[in-house]
Amino acid sequence: MIGAIIALLVVVAAAYAVTQIGGVITLLFVAAVLFLAYRRLSLLVFTVTFTVLLALYTTAGAPAGIWKGLLWVLLAGLWLLNLRPLRKSLITRPFLGAYLRLLPSMSQTEREALEAGTVWWDGELFTGAPQWQKLLAARPPRLSPEEQAFLDGPCEELCRMLDEWHITHERADLPPEAWQLLKTRGFFAMIIPKKYGGMEFSAYAHSCVLAKISSRSPTAASNAAVPNSLGPAELLNHYGTEAQKNYYLPRLARGDEVPCFALTGPRAGSDAASIPDTGIVCRGMWQGEEIVGLRLNFSKRYITLAPVATVIGLAFRMFDPDKLLGGKTDIGITVALIPRNTPGITIGRRHFPLNVPFQNGPIQGRDVFVPLDFIIGGTAMAGSGWRMLVEQLSVGRCISLPSNTTGAAKAGVWATGAYARIRSQFNTPVGRFEGVETVIARMVGLTYTMDAGRSVTAGAIDGGEKPSVPSAMLKYHVTEMGRQVGNDAMDVHGGKGIMLGPRNYLARGYQVTPVAITVEGANLLTRNLIIFGQGAIRCHPFVLREMTAARDPDRAKGVDEFDRALFGHIGFTISNAVRSFIMALTHARFTRAPVAGETARFYQHIVRFSASFAFAVDVAMLTLSGYLKKKEGLSARLGDVLSCMYLASMVLKHHLNQGAPEEDLPVVEWACRNLLYHAQEQLHGFLRNFPNRALAAVMRGLIFPRGLVYSAPGDRLAHRVAALVTASTPARERLCAGIYRTLEPNNPLGLLEEAMVLAEQLEPLLKRIRVEGVKTGKVTALDLPGQISQALGAGIVSETEAAALRDYDRKTMDLINVDDFASEELGTQAQPIAAAQSRPHVA
Ligand SMILES: Cc1cc2nc3c(=O)[nH]c(=O)nc-3n(C[C@H](O)[C@H](O)[C@H](O)COP(=O)(O)OP(=O)(O)OC[C@H]3O[C@@H](n4cnc5c(N)ncnc54)[C@H](O)[C@@H]3O)c2cc1C
Repeated sequence: MIGAIIALLVVVAAAYAVTQIGGVITLLFVAAVLFLAYRRLSLLVFTVTFTVLLALYTTAGAPAGIWKGLLWVLLAGLWLLNLRPLRKSLITRPFLGAYLRLLPSMSQTEREALEAGTVWWDGELFTGAPQWQKLLAARPPRLSPEEQAFLDGPCEELCRMLDEWHITHERADLPPEAWQLLKTRGFFAMIIPKKYGGMEFSAYAHSCVLAKISSRSPTAASNAAVPNSLGPAELLNHYGTEAQKNYYLPRLARGDEVPCFALTGPRAGSDAASIPDTGIVCRGMWQGEEIVGLRLNFSKRYITLAPVATVIGLAFRMFDPDKLLGGKTDIGITVALIPRNTPGITIGRRHFPLNVPFQNGPIQGRDVFVPLDFIIGGTAMAGSGWRMLVEQLSVGRCISLPSNTTGAAKAGVWATGAYARIRSQFNTPVGRFEGVETVIARMVGLTYTMDAGRSVTAGAIDGGEKPSVPSAMLKYHVTEMGRQVGNDAMDVHGGKGIMLGPRNYLARGYQVTPVAITVEGANLLTRNLIIFGQGAIRCHPFVLREMTAARDPDRAKGVDEFDRALFGHIGFTISNAVRSFIMALTHARFTRAPVAGETARFYQHIVRFSASFAFAVDVAMLTLSGYLKKKEGLSARLGDVLSCMYLASMVLKHHLNQGAPEEDLPVVEWACRNLLYHAQEQLHGFLRNFPNRALAAVMRGLIFPRGLVYSAPGDRLAHRVAALVTASTPARERLCAGIYRTLEPNNPLGLLEEAMVLAEQLEPLLKRIRVEGVKTGKVTALDLPGQISQALGAGIVSETEAAALRDYDRKTMDLINVDDFASEELGTQAQPIAAAQSRPHVA
């Protein structure tokens, strides 16, 4: 309503202003031209339509003088631009020269990262006019009967045998039977094709398995994720020689081999392409024969599964100083598979990642000599290691961490919703206090967003996409949201979350959060450098085309393609500026949405942000060029806007995939409002920090002509959202589907659900005791067991009712109680000095 009033006022004001230069007819003319720009016509169609409009405008009484003259000059210019040969020699060629000088240099590794994967819905969001059908037409991800049976069978069995306190505090490892199950029942073979004995699961099934394990044990989930992520199996699948595949894949599938993947070292972390580890082509002895092979020297750290690995996927830089292979001396990053027992390798010691003792440790190699056919893909793939890694990361990064984090968040919501119902203070379940509701609602909204992102993107992978930019967005945002959900779960649980011991079901998940934040591209780097840095070039409809054309060695072809891209780009930018302004002014009320009903407005807002974002990106790239890469604060904020649009789209699609249940609408609304608000704030932050203040002011006028109109989810909405998970509702079931919540003695998730259901059922009885007993003075005891006895004695409750209440109280207190220890039970018997002395030398 306010939007419509403002739009009307703007129209009236504009009409008044133009009376000075020709009246309402001028306003109509300008509106028609803006409409053409909004509709994004081709240059020729625009020029022809503009000619007709101008002719009509002139004959209808356009004011004479400079205004009319300018319009005719503009028309002449437009016609000239349609003459491509003229345009190329007068504009494109000179511009191309300047463009080439400004074009930032790009290393081979950067180029390979850019070219990895496919462009999917992320590309649509860069257009300013996303075509929803491309997203909505995709089939919802589904599990095959075989995949479902795996989740209900071996996965359930594994979860049952995991006791996180025993694993983290007493054993510092998984129990042997869990290792056995992981290795022999296919947990390490989810991505290995069936013909090699693997499970060949869909990306969605793979994600569901990890999410379920993670809801039970972060330690087991970390161990299980790695063999299915970037590592030997994945690399062999895509790049291995037939001999390598035939040898290793069945062994990996059976669990005869345990893989690890070693890239990171003490000197190369985030800047992984700078690894100093070397593989020198030379002659050496191998199994009694002299052969040409590789002499490897390396020092790696933080390598998951290294202490127990039997085969190491090793990344190193390969050199051929004596040109034994006949080509370059600096061959580049290469990946090889090295058996653990190869002479020269030191392996087996462990790091201790934040009290969650999944297997992780350093590996060193000194003068390790191996044959050349240890290189994955053989010598043909020597030097292609970086491309292999980034290509595989575009899929793996969408699955491992997003799935593990989402599984843990679902478990957190499941537990917290129930706990907030059974834990009462001030005679009220804590989940009914507004302040707690707000926090629970945030947990629910974020978890829904995470689940939507991971499942819809996994579905896209199963449809053939390798979404490299979404993989970075998911990695960053899902793990950051997981961190927030973990913090919130701890707050709602109070001291119960803090006291470590067998009864604590939250703390290890909370402790391990920074691991997800750090691995597979640490989050600061991912947000500041990768999401937008890669996305801007990879997804933009014109930028990569322009760059490729500019560098085309065939000059004539390059100029021709550059010319098309450049003028397409100019029209695109103008159109997005107009679209941004009009949609911002009308609050996207007249924008087409692909669905009707309560969610339609969110689709409209995403389109509006898409236009504003695309316009801001073009201004930033045009004016800051290579400097934008250094201005990490700006690119991070643009990346946030892109991610918010992406995740909001995932939320809407996820809701449709689940059959658009009406009951979930408050959660969808919470998630979309949160993301749109965040998108607004980040776009605003971008404008506030944009170095050219005059341009920032122009952009602000076109992007936020009505100011900042989006607000964060409110208290009433939070109340509705929190109510969905603090009682047993279908929405709670849907949101937390797939976690390990079987009702059994050692599973807090099952027990919490049981207690919550009892709380709901017994609420009328408890109320009766309060009203008829406590308020009348017949019941004076201060604790519930005493009150139950007195109520029974006073005839307020029956024997059966009293028994049910006692059972409820016992079960609830079992969950609320925490552990305590004798002093001597805490601490370890370790000898730290002796351990330090035995530590091997690390380069
Ligand atoms: C538990 C665990 C398991 C792991 N498993 C493996 C494994 O199996 N195999 C393997 O090869 N590696 C593994 N790693 C390594 C992991 O990928 C690296 O830790 C990660 O790449 C970051 O490197 P770093 O820790 O040395 O941090 P650094 O590179 O030292 O970075 C420090 C901080 O600076 C930030 N930063 C760096 N550059 C930039 C930039 N340009 N812009 C903004 N911020 C920046 C980072 O984001 C980070 O926050 C693991 C790490 C951990 C902790």
